[in-house]
Amino acid sequence: MLFSKLLIPTLKEAPQEAEIVSHKLMLRAGMIRKVASGVYTWLPLGLKVLRKVEGEVRTAMNNAGAQEVLMPMVQPKELWNETNRWEKMGKELLRFRDRHDRDFCLGPTHEEVITDLIRNNVRSYKELPINAYQIQTKFRDEIRPRYGVMRSREFIMKDAYSFSVNEKCLDESYINMRNAYKQILQNIGLDFKIVKADSGAIGGDASEEFHVLAENGEDTIAISTNSEFAINTELLLEEGEDIKSLEGKDSPDGKGIMQIKKGIEVGHIFKLGQVYSNDMNASVQSQEGRSSTLYMGCYGIGVSRIVAAAIEQNNDEKGIVWPVSIAPFDVNIIAIGFDKNEKVANAATDLYEKLSNQGYDVILDDRKAGFGAKIKDSELIGIPMNIIIGKLYVEKNEIEMRTRDGQISLVQIDDLEVIFNHFK
Ligand code: ATP
Ligand code: MG
Repeated sequence: MLFSKLLIPTLKEAPQEAEIVSHKLMLRAGMIRKVASGVYTWLPLGLKVLRKVEGEVRTAMNNAGAQEVLMPMVQPKELWNETNRWEKMGKELLRFRDRHDRDFCLGPTHEEVITDLIRNNVRSYKELPINAYQIQTKFRDEIRPRYGVMRSREFIMKDAYSFSVNEKCLDESYINMRNAYKQILQNIGLDFKIVKADSGAIGGDASEEFHVLAENGEDTIAISTNSEFAINTELLLEEGEDIKSLEGKDSPDGKGIMQIKKGIEVGHIFKLGQVYSNDMNASVQSQEGRSSTLYMGCYGIGVSRIVAAAIEQNNDEKGIVWPVSIAPFDVNIIAIGFDKNEKVANAATDLYEKLSNQGYDVILDDRKAGFGAKIKDSELIGIPMNIIIGKLYVEKNEIEMRTRDGQISLVQIDDLEVIFNHFK
């Protein structure tokens, strides 16, 4: 892609509205722009990253045997009445009426719609387990939207729902999704913890959250120094425990000492059991020929929140430092004098094609600007590798390869093998 053809309105200063670093950098890098409180447009650069996160999530879901569906954002009141959530959800549920005076809401989550689908279309235990997921827009009328897409009103979530014939099968589906979530965050390259959590408005018996560790996280979590033990302090508060007294204490599992950290909740998995299937009469015929109420699990991961969380965990004074897996581009070819010097323009275009043919995601900075402005933008946007084609190339056929963390090496432009090796 040519830099000059993309809408990447970078900013020198962060607008006043931004409080935390990820929000500031997403605005400065021209990734998002606000339309209304908690409602954003994703610009080309932001959308590229969002799609890469979606790709990681989709691959992991498909590998785990889940099947993709797409449910509507608009949902009828009747379904929400069946679980009493039309009332229970309170003001977070955005309700509206159509021209025939029928009540609808914008889906904040999809338990009712998926349970309705399964009860109407699955008859026998033989068809189970089923795990269906979607990657879709949610709307929650958050009381305090803030931090950009981190806590917005409209956002993208991947939500998956499993249906099983008994508790043991639910446990298996839950572990399967738990492993898939671990895989997603590991593949993206984030530092995270799995934390025991409160089930909240979704309900059910057991739940765990996936937290990306970052100073600006909204949640306070207690984690052990030497084991996997971690718990959301929200849960401790509910049980009347005192968080302060926990610091420096032995972990409840006897391994390590408890530490307090800040986390960003990017994923939440629940064993719902029979809560929704009871309310909505969702059953199948069991092996013994009886009607058997379904066991359900639900599994949400915040696709748009992961973009912000990744920045919150990976940035420096110059800008974003993307994990390579979700960087908008793998490499930026910075051509100095692209518009004036034919030799530079040809070499840059040629290298662009060679790298693209190798499968790299390449941007070519062909703008009429100097090296200073171009490298600043590239560092702000967080592209992992820069290839600079300028004076050195004109004089000695040399190009400069410069990583986002500032490591520089000079390479002969014809030495393709050396160039490709830098990406390994
Ligand atoms: P929170 O406690 O942050 O409000 P939640 O417990 O309400 O989150 P879930 O209902 O479990 O969230 O939704 C699953 C995932 O969707 C969350 O882990 C998070 O990544 C994402 N998410 C939830 N609310 C928002 C929001 N307002 N903006 C962006 N992402 C969100
Ligand atoms: Mg919430």
